[in-house]
Amino acid sequence: MEFIDEKLIFDLIDDTSLHNKDYQREILEKSKNAKGLSLKESASLLSIESQDLLEELYHTAKEVKKTIYGNRLVLFAPLYITNLCVNNCMYCAFRKDNKELARKTLTLEEIKSETEHLVGQGHKRVLLVAGEHPKKSALEYVGHAVKTIYDVNINGNNIRRINVNTAPLSLDEFKTLKSFDIGTYQCFQETYHYKTYMKMHPEGPKRDYAWRLYAMDRALQAGIDDLGIGALFGLTDYRFEALAMLQHAFNLDTRFGVGPHTVSVPRLEPALNAPVADKPPYAVADKDFKKMVAVLRLAVPYTGIILSTRERPELRRELLEVGVSQISAGSRTSPGAYEESKEAMDEHQMEQFQLGDHRTLEEVVFDCTKLGYLPSFCTACYRSDRTGDRFMELAKTGNIGKICVPNALATFKEYVNDFANPETKAQAIEFIRDEMENEDENSRKRINKMIKRVDDGERDVFF
Ligand code: SAM
Ligand code: SF4
Repeated sequence: MEFIDEKLIFDLIDDTSLHNKDYQREILEKSKNAKGLSLKESASLLSIESQDLLEELYHTAKEVKKTIYGNRLVLFAPLYITNLCVNNCMYCAFRKDNKELARKTLTLEEIKSETEHLVGQGHKRVLLVAGEHPKKSALEYVGHAVKTIYDVNINGNNIRRINVNTAPLSLDEFKTLKSFDIGTYQCFQETYHYKTYMKMHPEGPKRDYAWRLYAMDRALQAGIDDLGIGALFGLTDYRFEALAMLQHAFNLDTRFGVGPHTVSVPRLEPALNAPVADKPPYAVADKDFKKMVAVLRLAVPYTGIILSTRERPELRRELLEVGVSQISAGSRTSPGAYEESKEAMDEHQMEQFQLGDHRTLEEVVFDCTKLGYLPSFCTACYRSDRTGDRFMELAKTGNIGKICVPNALATFKEYVNDFANPETKAQAIEFIRDEMENEDENSRKRINKMIKRVDDGERDVFF
């Protein structure tokens, strides 16, 4: 655990010399080169309180996001395959002591049916989520689930990237997970603060802080090089979590030459019989949350920032402005939920936590284009071997956009042709036309060719 230096982090939080406005302005100026920030610089920006500097921070984060990601926004949905769990995390409705939760592990037939629902909405990317089960067969089940999801194909529409959020695995198990052909492996430390971690995880395999912290090292050693880290905000001081998460990211980058592909920023939401979730010990105010997202964008500019439907639409819109690059849409957080009606779900009480954004994928897409964001259903990178250091090289040099823009536009057009209602379609076509105007001659030609192939009925067009 030596790379999470709690004393250093608290010293930085307490160091009032870092609150100096001139110093903060200098950092903001420097961060415009999109090369990232040190821990000390990040701590300094996290201490900003005045409205004028906050506005400068937001503005800079927006500019940096534009430099690396343009206006693209990647969309996905979670797919929960089981809510059985042997752990007792104090904040989660899946905790084993929650006797009121209806437990369910989906059969492969049910996983197929859930996938058909997601594909039928237009999704191309899912995040597979599961509670922790220690049985040897648990990983095998994940393998069958992944294959079942990939096998669903409705007129050329299918899930083309499956990211996985499961409990940490051993080195050999990670090798097996890699063989399933997954996209990103995601695992959140929840809290990097050791004492808090021990309080929040009273029993079960998850109580082992170090096993979880070093999960990403094992995954990398096993050859999985797209990794997603995160912290569950509300368990301890958000500044501590943000800085510790950065220490984790810097450490992976220094030792393996690959920083995290994504960072996630889940905030605690109310959950059934989860005492800590209803009354977070360090609830993060919206204003602080936004500041933190902006600082993360400047600190690790090449890293995707994921925001889930835990947050309300109004706040999600604001956070897109300051750095978020991937969002879930149309989500449900219990196994079998896409097929069940809302009323049946409420009755069964199977969900992991409550959602803040209940809009459908279509509504989110409509909203995004209205706000000037290009919804991307692209899943090309990991299928074109652009993962790990190959991806980072492109992202860090700002060249990823040359590949992403055509792929985003082609996959968005595919979505529009197959799923959009007339109102969304009309807005999207105008949006795509405007986007093309911003491209140079060569790029425009290439995109036009790709879009023509899509319009002629070809699916999954990318390069
Ligand atoms: N069971 C595995 C684990 O804990 O790593 C993986 C899946 S777990 C269902 C996914 C994530 O949900 C957790 O890592 C945690 O950050 C988040 N989570 C749990 N309870 C939550 C709550 N009440 N509000 C928001 N997020 C929550
Ligand atoms: Fe289980 Fe994960 Fe929920 Fe903890 S967060 S109770 S490990 S599903």
